[in-house]
Amino acid sequence: MRPEDLLCPSTKGLYSPAGDFYVDPVRAVDRAVITHGHSDHARRGHGKVLATRETLDIMALRYGPDFAGETQAIGYGESVEINGVRITAHPAGHVLGSAQMALDWRGLTIVASGDYKDARDPTCAPFVPVKCHVFISEATFGLPVFRHPDAADETAKLLRSVALFPERAHILGAYSLGKAQRMMALIRQAGHTAPLYMHGALTEITAYYEAQGIALGPVAHVTKMAKAKLAGAIVIAPPMAITDLWTRNFPDPVTAFASGWMRVRARARQRGIELPLVVSDHADWDGLTASVTATGCEELWVTHGAEDALVHWAQTQGLKAKPLHMVGYAEEDEAAEGEAVAMSGPEAPPQDGAPEETAP
Ligand SMILES: [Zn+2]
Repeated sequence: MRPEDLLCPSTKGLYSPAGDFYVDPVRAVDRAVITHGHSDHARRGHGKVLATRETLDIMALRYGPDFAGETQAIGYGESVEINGVRITAHPAGHVLGSAQMALDWRGLTIVASGDYKDARDPTCAPFVPVKCHVFISEATFGLPVFRHPDAADETAKLLRSVALFPERAHILGAYSLGKAQRMMALIRQAGHTAPLYMHGALTEITAYYEAQGIALGPVAHVTKMAKAKLAGAIVIAPPMAITDLWTRNFPDPVTAFASGWMRVRARARQRGIELPLVVSDHADWDGLTASVTATGCEELWVTHGAEDALVHWAQTQGLKAKPLHMVGYAEEDEAAEGEAVAMSGPEAPPQDGAPEETAP
């Protein structure tokens, strides 16, 4: 019996020959198991979808209630069997509802982790290492140069700037699912109680987080206020909005951006970011290597990102390891930003025509 009989890469995503289902398929399939709600992992049009309740809700918010033929919810620690393969969901710590999917079959355990981080996040359940034979990892920040600082320290930089420039608005770019709400929660944890303002693209997901009991304090849709009156306010917007016409009429805006890629100074400069905040929803190099070790796996498969360095590291640790070269997992969130950087090295400026985020 080979692990590939339980799960193997295919052009549509990770496929289970034993169970006849896909994990995070990039095209419409009959049966999908979905790790989290980012659009590159959670696509519409599948026949049946198994995911956490939160991921199913987020898909319905984004795609409408008919996003799949049938849905089935699975909670953390719960198991569902499909064609003899037992699937158990465990927290991935990436965004609300994100799950690692552990597949058990004939004594073999493979964990497909989707996207994950081991750093603290007040808006989702913390990552739990799951014992397995084969661990499947992303490698968005899979180079030793990537070490994310404490998110609380990065948030403090934003609040220091707000205190220093009370006559200016602070526009904070953050991905609409997960990062935006995490930044709101971090700002509250830092003691900032003034109302926050958000771009219209964030309202639905943010309201959903609040409905799940995540306290974000007073947050208002920015169009309800005259932009010119927002001196001293923090306004959170999707990455595409922070450099376009939308920012006009705010008082002398300071442009900030919360992303693991802000570690790459050339990237911050090229985007015209005055206040880069290195806050990521993906594990950094230390987080990736610590997480792989904690699973006790014998074998590591790397789906996307800087695959080669993580594969090489695993081999030096005595593990079997291989890159899967999966395509289609770099459309939303920080993985998208990474495309251009990965092609040209972490300190090089992006190429012309590099893909931008597609955060809705
Ligand atoms: Zn993601």
